[in-house]
Amino acid sequence: MDLKGEIITTPFTFASSTLAIENCNLKPIFCDIDPNNYTIDVTKIEELITPNTSAILAVHVFGNPCDVYAIDAIAKKHKLKVIYDAAHAFGVEIDGKGIAEFGDVSMFSLHATKVFNSIEGGILAFRNRELVNKLGSLKNFGLSGDGEVIFQGTNAKMNEFQAAMGLCNLKTVNSDLEKRRTLYKEYENGLKDVSFIQLMETYEDVKYNGSYFPIRFSSIELRDHFFGVLKKYNVMSRKYFYPLTNEFTFDKNLSSKTPISKHISNGILALPLYTDLSVETVRKIVEIIIYEGDCYKNV
Ligand SMILES: *Cc1c(COP(=O)(O)O)cnc(C)c1O
Repeated sequence: MDLKGEIITTPFTFASSTLAIENCNLKPIFCDIDPNNYTIDVTKIEELITPNTSAILAVHVFGNPCDVYAIDAIAKKHKLKVIYDAAHAFGVEIDGKGIAEFGDVSMFSLHATKVFNSIEGGILAFRNRELVNKLGSLKNFGLSGDGEVIFQGTNAKMNEFQAAMGLCNLKTVNSDLEKRRTLYKEYENGLKDVSFIQLMETYEDVKYNGSYFPIRFSSIELRDHFFGVLKKYNVMSRKYFYPLTNEFTFDKNLSSKTPISKHISNGILALPLYTDLSVETVRKIVEIIIYEGDCYKNV
């Protein structure tokens, strides 16, 4: 996309979205996140824009979309490109529109841990036809149709075997999404009134994909305690996203002040959520959390 200079992004994400910026020799500028929905805080973007800013790379988190309308308005005003890391948002809709309708490019990950997977792989969704050939070339060593190298490309092709796996999974993706939404609701109903945990804020106009069920504790001590407690019951939760991407140990230059991201990252646990999980098991996990948390109910 011929981006230059600085890209505004968030640190509450998986390593790769920040690394993608660095790998293009661009500078990530970290904006803090909203404490309730964990996506980029749109009220803090404009103060980070400089003459060097060329794009916003925002991350839809746990199936919760960014405030795409506000981001669109800011991008138009300052002539910036918008790229969405939609790795968590396959199947999500806003006001009846697919999540990839928003922004210039949306990236979906098809890694084995995602809602729709092809073992490894990904999808880029965009409207600009000119990008078709360019991206096709970039993933194939920068080759042009007649064998000349026209870009500094790489080998990022999806192989046939993975494509076949993706086609197989595509057959069940809609029923998989429905199962996930059911499991999500079960967790939500079971945990929404539990005083010592916070749930992610969700919105009426969004159709969710049930990709993750994050719960949040008030401190890292309590979070780590529950991580251990659940493990004792053979329930594997995940500290996710943790640590933040502006805390990479190999690049201290990224270090930046994003206190809300830090607070959220320290408090969060993603509970097990996958299509073969049963409603009964979700109920058991809810019971364990409530039983083990009895002494924290006034925290
Ligand atoms: C999984 C994930 C990625 C990485 O996707 P890959 O397909 O593994 O490259 C990027 N961002 C987020 C938010 C993710 O969850």
